[in-house]
Amino acid sequence: MQTSQDGARLYCPHCEQVRDCEAMPATEVGRPSRQPCYRKGHQELQWLRHERRCQTCNRAFFTAELDEDFLRELVVLHMALARIKYHAEDFTKEWNAGSAALVRLTRSLKVVRALAIYQDTDDFKDRAISDLEMSVRATNSLQAAGIMTASELCNHTGYELLGLRNFGDSTLHEVRQRLAEIGLRLRGD
Ligand SMILES: [Zn+2]
Repeated sequence: MQTSQDGARLYCPHCEQVRDCEAMPATEVGRPSRQPCYRKGHQELQWLRHERRCQTCNRAFFTAELDEDFLRELVVLHMALARIKYHAEDFTKEWNAGSAALVRLTRSLKVVRALAIYQDTDDFKDRAISDLEMSVRATNSLQAAGIMTASELCNHTGYELLGLRNFGDSTLHEVRQRLAEIGLRLRGD
């Protein structure tokens, strides 16, 4: 396969084709050729650098002569990385599902906890609107309409509440959800 002294058919990165290439003396580009190379701190991985010149485009490039065991290690490492990537993608999918499940679980636990408090004290009906832990908008809107306790709130229908100032669909939804959490509901619900 040799074409000239120390030359060979090689892949030329400039032509992006296999070409006849010749080996160049080290001095031509001022970088060492045919010398063992390694990265600082990684002396165990060594390769032999060759400078080549493509006889078609006449441009120079470097190749590395590797120990075959090292190449085999690279192949094994490449396969291991592919497996890790595959499992990481799988984990991400499961993690997202787990996270959604956790949100649902937390929400359920909140309801359970609220119900437990309700059973313990049975005083939610007497609770002030301001103690029901609703949004500022909902709390203000109800208080402005003179609805001061949970039991007063429960005497109203959803339709009536929608007539209050600053009280829209999302606020109604919030109020219904909060009441449900403490075992109460609006009139007509
Ligand atoms: Zn070339």
